[in-house]
Amino acid sequence: MNSYRVAPRSDELPRPWPQPNGRCDTMKSTISPRYETRFWSRVDRRDSEEECWEWTAGRFSTGYGQFWADGGSVYAHRISWVLTHGPIPNGLHVLHHCDNRACCNPHHLFLGTHSDNMADMVSKGRNVKGERSPNTKFSAETILDIRRRYAQGETQVALAREYGVRQGTVSRIVRRTVWAHVCDPSLT
Ligand SMILES: [Zn+2]
Repeated sequence: MNSYRVAPRSDELPRPWPQPNGRCDTMKSTISPRYETRFWSRVDRRDSEEECWEWTAGRFSTGYGQFWADGGSVYAHRISWVLTHGPIPNGLHVLHHCDNRACCNPHHLFLGTHSDNMADMVSKGRNVKGERSPNTKFSAETILDIRRRYAQGETQVALAREYGVRQGTVSRIVRRTVWAHVCDPSLT
């Protein structure tokens, strides 16, 4: 039952994002070309590059499209990227310009790191569960404000309440896990 807790044998390369059942590899970075036709048949490809091309089949609980290939489920937007541009460099995420997780329009996707992903979520006012809050489209000034007020002794809980985000988001902002590129010399 808990076999996934067993440490990998030394001859097995650890996977960057192990899945509990050991089979699914949602972060696949390549795909066999034989899946191409089946993949695009599940995408509502519009005539325009502007519109979102939504995934029409199953979705993960987080809202991302779910594509079955090689005995596991994969993030559909990653497969869109792979089929359009080729393999995804190790460890990189495929992010959405359009903030629509079900979108597989390759023109709406870009590559980034995990922290880019977190910063992107914060800037779009979205937490890790994908909830949106219209009042939290952060600007660099807001980020600096939060860090300054925290440095002056305000609590993360109070700041989170005021800015309409979770305390965890404030924590990531003040620890510079996100928005690390926003710098204020007076705070260092
Ligand atoms: Zn889109």
